[in-house]
Amino acid sequence: MTETVTPMMAQFLEIKAGYPDALLFYRMGDFYEMFFDDAVAASAALDITLTKRGKHAGADIPMCGVPVHAAEGYFLTLIRKGFRVAVCEQMEDPSEAKKRGSKSVVRRDVVRLVTPGTLTEDTLLDARRHNYLAAYAEIRDEGALAWVDISTGAVSVMACSRMRLGPELARLTPREVLVSEALESELAEVVSDLGAAMTGLGRTAFDSTSGEKRLCSVYGVASLDAFGSFTRTEISALAGLVEYLDITQKGNMPLLRPPVQEGDSPVMQIDATTRRSLELTHAMGGGRQGSLLSVIDRTVTAAGARLLERRLASPACRADVIGERQASVQFMLEQGRFREDLREALRGAHDVDRALSRLALDRGGPRDMAAIRNTLEVADRVNAACQAHELPPVLTLAARHLTGHDDLRDLLGEALVAEPPVLSRDGGFIAPGYDADLDEARKLRDEGRSVIAGMQSDYAALAEVPSLKIKHNNVLGYFIETTATHAEKMMAAPLNETFIHRQTTANQVRFTTVDLNEIETRILNAGGHALDIEKRLYASLKESIVAAAGPLGALAAALAEFDLAAALADLAQRENWCRPVIDDSRAFEVTAGRHPVVEQAQARLGAPFVANYCALTEAPIWLLTGPNMAGKSTFLRQNALIAVLAQMGSYVPASEAHIGIVSQIFSRVGASDDLARGRSTFMVEMVETAAILNQADDRALVILDEIGRGTATYDGLSIAWATLEHLAEVNRCRAIFATHYHEMAALASRLDGVENATVTVKEWDGDVIFLHEVRKGTADRSYGVQVARLAGLPTQVVERAKVVLEALEKGEREGGGRKDALIDDLPLFSATPVQPAPPQKVSAVEDRLAGILPDELSPREALALVYELRTLM
Ligand code: ADP
Repeated sequence: MTETVTPMMAQFLEIKAGYPDALLFYRMGDFYEMFFDDAVAASAALDITLTKRGKHAGADIPMCGVPVHAAEGYFLTLIRKGFRVAVCEQMEDPSEAKKRGSKSVVRRDVVRLVTPGTLTEDTLLDARRHNYLAAYAEIRDEGALAWVDISTGAVSVMACSRMRLGPELARLTPREVLVSEALESELAEVVSDLGAAMTGLGRTAFDSTSGEKRLCSVYGVASLDAFGSFTRTEISALAGLVEYLDITQKGNMPLLRPPVQEGDSPVMQIDATTRRSLELTHAMGGGRQGSLLSVIDRTVTAAGARLLERRLASPACRADVIGERQASVQFMLEQGRFREDLREALRGAHDVDRALSRLALDRGGPRDMAAIRNTLEVADRVNAACQAHELPPVLTLAARHLTGHDDLRDLLGEALVAEPPVLSRDGGFIAPGYDADLDEARKLRDEGRSVIAGMQSDYAALAEVPSLKIKHNNVLGYFIETTATHAEKMMAAPLNETFIHRQTTANQVRFTTVDLNEIETRILNAGGHALDIEKRLYASLKESIVAAAGPLGALAAALAEFDLAAALADLAQRENWCRPVIDDSRAFEVTAGRHPVVEQAQARLGAPFVANYCALTEAPIWLLTGPNMAGKSTFLRQNALIAVLAQMGSYVPASEAHIGIVSQIFSRVGASDDLARGRSTFMVEMVETAAILNQADDRALVILDEIGRGTATYDGLSIAWATLEHLAEVNRCRAIFATHYHEMAALASRLDGVENATVTVKEWDGDVIFLHEVRKGTADRSYGVQVARLAGLPTQVVERAKVVLEALEKGEREGGGRKDALIDDLPLFSATPVQPAPPQKVSAVEDRLAGILPDELSPREALALVYELRTLM
């Protein structure tokens, strides 16, 4: 049997052939439909019903669909699950197609490819985070990385070797990374490690010669020199970005800002592992909650929050840059009143960057215009408030961008109603009095409506049916409605001359009249005319806004700068932080330092945080010993975090701090298995330690926790020992090295520049009490057995461990050295069987209680249980 393919299916298959890697959302009326494998995959991923429609090649065609108005949410789910979506729209009104003949299908085309890096919808984006799309290019041995946030249009580019790619991607956390197909397999691991999607593009996409021309035309310049001098590799990476935007946005190029070259101003190098372990912008679990960012973010605008994230991810390395940022924070601290007013005003600001970008991409609406209008008003207020103050340099520069928008502000102020709708589709956003023609058309439309209201009583009187109503729906337009009992009269002479029967429903009968039709046409015409005028005005307003994109972007950046300075001042004041001294020395001295995240967690528990002193100036390495749970990792991390905060320009959680610029931070804290990549804990630990020993220079700050824990004691101890020596003698960096091998303390006395410190504990009644206090000196014991007891190890095991420990220590003291002899002495391994500890007595009440699952008890059962327990006593 030969199957004829319907014209629609033929069209679907043709379009689908162009997008084999995407799910094709095929527009049919109010739905996006998916067919064949796309339908099977989408219905599973979205948990929607899979149906079928017609046959193809003898088999049913699987189909599923989602309503257009809810499509955004489905896009997001699909993107999160690793799909991309090609959105295929109807390119003409179905009536047009009918005119061409009854078999004719509505013209359709893909208007957009939705991918993780190219989202612009507000609902799909986290307002306080960037959504980067990155492209990595290589020409010979040189690499470059370019990235764009198309929701704001910001574009950056930098030289980037293959070795730096991982750390840079970790800093930017892009959602999607573009590479040429040739590099795809080599870079797969680096990219997927960061949880980003990788997209391969043909080699021509990265061609630097045609790319340069393309970039010039996108930016409307004759030469890219206007923006800086770019290497061929940098142009290649930028070309890849632009090519991809072209593919995904189908030629509807987003508003791109001129590319900014990064790398002129050096930033602190922090690799992916270190970022993860310090939980700077993402907590271990992956989310924002629990990260340093979440604890320090007091910004009141989305753009301010994104600026904070950028600064925190890339702390500066120049004392003058840092000093200027600190000056802004200090100013805000000193001008408390100004700061409070400023923050109050900024709460009324909107996300101008994203509104602009949506408008430029034609995905915006009147509400985006109002967002810009409102923000311009906020900028005016901020600027006015600034007049009374002598601003520090960064804010002076920012304030200059707040003015010069009077024309646009006035235009939008006059043109738009106070709270316009999201979409321009239905009109109603242009303010009365702005356009005479529009006012006239609206008047006609509204008059028509009031005439209709008057007609109702006339018709009711004429027909002598007081309950008669004039109603409106989208199918019939205006109609007269009455109940079946009255209708008979209206369908008979003489009333049937006026009332023309239209429809009979279960309970109602509907009529129209010649006059009603006439008025309706008038209303429709006037309404349609008004809508046309509004659309025209919308287009012209949009043009004015997009023409001002440059200055508006600068204004948004300026407000973000004010917001961030005020937010950091707010933080410093509330949390009692200090302004650190930053210079080019090799100092590192923190007095009464705290860990901001742990401190906050402690505060929630009502427990105080113990502040600690740290100085790596004279002796650049501290060897920190102390039992587990004493607070070693907390101390290590808090000092690394203080360096990061200081260099991003913030105040720091300490009473005083002096930090000589730190060029790189390395952190190896705690061991985590990396089973996904088939490496053991120990292997991961060694790979990471190797990276540090190979890369750390004398400006680095290294924190190492429990190196060598993942292997046998003597192996571990010797690796830790050798690592410490290498750090002190070869790397010559500043470092804090924590270990529970208290034997290592002996090394400190032999190595120049290494000092012993310990986290103190007190022993009381056989228990350890953690004081969390760091002081110079060594820990004499590791208290592991006591900690084990605290952790709830059974008493028998703890007691047994004590005996073993004593025997081992005794053996060591007596210098026996021979392990076998030592082991033979152990009661645990001796020939005499060890008497099991007598089982502890358990009362009947305890026994009964042990078998209870409280969650499963109803209140009544619980009460019954209490009575029962009483009887057991
Ligand atoms: P270690 O690395 O020595 O095993 P941690 O640094 O993980 O110990 O600290 C264990 C716990 O002790 C932390 O979760 C925190 O609750 C508490 N803690 C650590 N340092 C301090 C401190 N300075 N002040 C108060 N509590 C602290």
